[in-house]
Amino acid sequence: MTGARITLLGSAHTDLTRFLESHPDGHEKAAAVLFRRLHICVDGLPDCDRYIATEIVPFKDAWITGSSPAHMAFDLAPLRELFRRCEEEGLVFGFVHNHPGGPAAFSHIDEENERTLVTAIRNRNGAHITFVAMLWANGEWTARTRSGSSPEESVPVRHTLVVGERIVLFGYRKSSSEHDAVQARQAAAFGKPFVDMLQSLRVGVVGNSGTGSPFGTLGARAGIGELVLIDKDLLAESNLSRVRGLMKRDVGHVKSETLKSFIDGIGVSVRVAAIASDLDTNPDALDALAGCDVIIGCTDDFAGREVMNAAVYAYLQPYIDIGLGGMVDEGKDGHPYLRYHYGRVSTILPEVGQCLFCQGVIKDVWIQTQLARRENPDITDEELKERYLEDGNTDAPGVGPFTSASADFALATLFDLVKPFRRFAPEVRRDMYFIDFVKMEINSHQTVGDSDCPYCRAHEFLLLKESCRLNRPSLGKRDEFV
Ligand SMILES: [Zn+2]
Ligand SMILES: [Zn+2]
Repeated sequence: MTGARITLLGSAHTDLTRFLESHPDGHEKAAAVLFRRLHICVDGLPDCDRYIATEIVPFKDAWITGSSPAHMAFDLAPLRELFRRCEEEGLVFGFVHNHPGGPAAFSHIDEENERTLVTAIRNRNGAHITFVAMLWANGEWTARTRSGSSPEESVPVRHTLVVGERIVLFGYRKSSSEHDAVQARQAAAFGKPFVDMLQSLRVGVVGNSGTGSPFGTLGARAGIGELVLIDKDLLAESNLSRVRGLMKRDVGHVKSETLKSFIDGIGVSVRVAAIASDLDTNPDALDALAGCDVIIGCTDDFAGREVMNAAVYAYLQPYIDIGLGGMVDEGKDGHPYLRYHYGRVSTILPEVGQCLFCQGVIKDVWIQTQLARRENPDITDEELKERYLEDGNTDAPGVGPFTSASADFALATLFDLVKPFRRFAPEVRRDMYFIDFVKMEINSHQTVGDSDCPYCRAHEFLLLKESCRLNRPSLGKRDEFV
């Protein structure tokens, strides 16, 4: 499956559709949408640009030269200011309109309008430009792209993703009959559109061990169409107790690559890429991540989690983070006993709920400690204390059923984002819940959060204008407009 993808914030989708449907006599209306384009190439996956909507500019009445419920004509002159901004700010021009009475398909007039727009933008900004057209009709988005080098040719997008309280996909393709046969029992629970939507998604899994490997393998079986596996660590003997797909002969090999070859061998409809590097130090890993529709965090790495937390807001990527924790005491018989042990599933969305910092899952001091340890692996606890650093990691036991069950809960959380089915008890939060494996309960922590948090409150990272990747000079400049 190829083609570009469009991502809109839930609030942008609401504003845009309300405006398009606002004509008192039900005439067509139009708006410009300015997009950031992330041009992502990942080995093993089709090239797939992400267009992230950053700004909506409704066409003023004065720009419209004629309209009816079935047509609309407009003046090009007022749009030139937007063409200029696209060039200066490296944005892509999008033309959006509606068909109040249907059909949910582009017309011949749309074809002409788009060619005129692409030619005008190309003449001003150059042949390298790309262009997006979106149509709102019958409660559905239909979208396609064009390029300045061949304005007459249009390419349908793979899907339009709206990220609000949940994720809503529009314009996705039907999956193959072979795939539908594999997914028949799941379709019996959630319906055929759910199967198609999962098959359209590209999902990044960061950390491919105790939780990442069950998520990756079951996610592939459940019908996720593309997986990006990110982990540079090597498999150890002790991983044999819980890492899915791992054989003794794989010990010493890279986790992400081993998991990829296992998933490739399952025989389901999935394309998998493996990236053997860290997120916070390697631009290729971050680029591969930025190309995903959804991110799953399966790592103990605080610096990596901080990157994913920022990507939620900068790249509009829903992020599900899995963590495990517990406390082991010594029983009267001299053997360990579990005082408590839980799996945590956090769901971070750009406009809803708290970020990972506000949920208390990551702290600056834990990131600093991790970086200090990375710089100097021999640093002692005393030296860390002197520098006011503390560890967030306690050496948690690794228990297969707990890591695996937590990953399964996270996959079910992704299902619930795509097709809501859960009924939460009032005391359980949607953005963070714990599965207590000892008391057999599901509950939530009540964290206060930071009322000025740059991520989830002040929204400083929302639709971030990047001078370099996530504005971190260490990760280098992104050449998005290739
Ligand atoms: Zn039209
Ligand atoms: Zn926050």
